[in-house]
Amino acid sequence: MCTLSIKQNSVVTFHYTLKDDSGEVIDSSSGSEPLAYLHGHGQIVGGLERELEGRAVGDKLSVKVAAADGYGEYNKELVQKVPRRSLKGIANISVGMRLHAQTAAGARAVVVTHVAGDMVTLDGNHPLAGQNLNFDIEVTDVREPTEEELSHGHVHGPGGHHH
Ligand code: ZN
Repeated sequence: MCTLSIKQNSVVTFHYTLKDDSGEVIDSSSGSEPLAYLHGHGQIVGGLERELEGRAVGDKLSVKVAAADGYGEYNKELVQKVPRRSLKGIANISVGMRLHAQTAAGARAVVVTHVAGDMVTLDGNHPLAGQNLNFDIEVTDVREPTEEELSHGHVHGPGGHHH
């Protein structure tokens, strides 16, 4: 039996642990279902997808993805202060709350980072923007996609879409 290596449209399943530069775990699939994705479609961060190219089942790799290749550099222009009254209909605005707001870059998810008097600071950066991403990866499965998966552009079944 030959071993498939990861190429365009491979269905790849992997376990991951994501750490910041200080070694603190930000996210991990450990103890839950591994993640499945369709290779070559930008469904995972670009820097990681490139490193997975050509790998096979059982491969373990550590990948450092620079912020710019991950969730982007931190962009100060995505931080805005708005009057509380412009967020009408939202009760009890507090730091850490996630909202959708209109920004210079269109409607996007923002997080409340500061509340002072009548002014609320909203940050539209991804929570991991500006951070290097340190992944420990173990490839657990590589297979060919089904025709249906190719036409949908995503993986079906464990770790993927259920519909
Ligand atoms: Zn589908």
